[in-house]
Amino acid sequence: MSVVGFIGLGNMGGPMAANLIKAGHKVQGFDIEQDRVRQFEKNGGDPVNDIREISNNVDFVITMLPAGSHVRSVYLETCGVIASFNKNTLLIDCSTIDVATAREVAAEAKRAGLIMLDAPVSGGVMGAEAASLTIMVGGNKRGFEQATSLLSLMGKNVIYTGSSGNGQVAKMCNNLMLGVSMIGVSEAFVLAEKLGLDHQKLYDISSSSSGQCWSLTSYCPVPGPVPNSPANRNYQAGFTVDMMLKDLNLSQDSAKICGVETPMGAKAASLYDQFKGLGNGYLDFSAIIRLLRNSDN
Ligand code: NAD
Repeated sequence: MSVVGFIGLGNMGGPMAANLIKAGHKVQGFDIEQDRVRQFEKNGGDPVNDIREISNNVDFVITMLPAGSHVRSVYLETCGVIASFNKNTLLIDCSTIDVATAREVAAEAKRAGLIMLDAPVSGGVMGAEAASLTIMVGGNKRGFEQATSLLSLMGKNVIYTGSSGNGQVAKMCNNLMLGVSMIGVSEAFVLAEKLGLDHQKLYDISSSSSGQCWSLTSYCPVPGPVPNSPANRNYQAGFTVDMMLKDLNLSQDSAKICGVETPMGAKAASLYDQFKGLGNGYLDFSAIIRLLRNSDN
């Protein structure tokens, strides 16, 4: 049994922490929102009021925070994670953040004698609840080996990606593909509708021919062909437009820094941004089909 500090008990962090508790680990949790902490306590966790209240001899500290700025402050502030723990604690950030921040904070941890891994996840809230996430881990290899059994309680694919920040690179590039492919699939359905081809017919053909992809076969943006896709519940998220836009913007920022052209990613980001601007940020990202169709259906 390990002792784990868990910071950020939101939509993802809450169920991830609950899975560690279920597996018999002792988890001390902190969140700035009290209702998140109360739910964590109901799940059997030990709540604390402050990062400094997490016992300083925990085996792991896991963070699951909204963005790079939160990770920076939680790790680097005077009473933050790096200042509060010693080399016996392995630090794991599961948030999706920019590569530069991930590398910079891990380097600060290293300077203080600590190992920090970046371990962003994919699979959404359902994956977090079912412990079936894909977890992409960057950083020290020995640290990865030490963390694997714990991460396996939250995810079914735990993959080592190489040096620090590479987990974030993998996550960002995956979501670049996803954001673009969802628009491609949506455009094809809208065109087929206009030309009188039935949704199910297009699905049956493309799902077994070269148009096949996850956006079509697991997350189909029209209701019917994939009964549990968000399209069947009026695009209730799921993975929101806001989150897709956040990840596409991370890839656009990185592409700019590296001087790489990503014209499809840039167009995708601008379409999700336009859709968000119309008040749809809370919807599942597959609702982008509404923008392409130019209607609320
Ligand atoms: P969320 O907003 O539900 O949870 C984040 C939690 O962090 C909140 O409860 C917030 O109160 C807490 N927090 C913020 N600042 C804090 C601080 N200084 N100290 C302690 N707690 C603090 O977000 P989420 O959906 O759980 O996403 C978390 C991360 O996971 C994000 O980086 C997101 O991009 C990524 N992610 C989300 C999904 C998804 O489907 N929700 C899927 C994959 C990855």
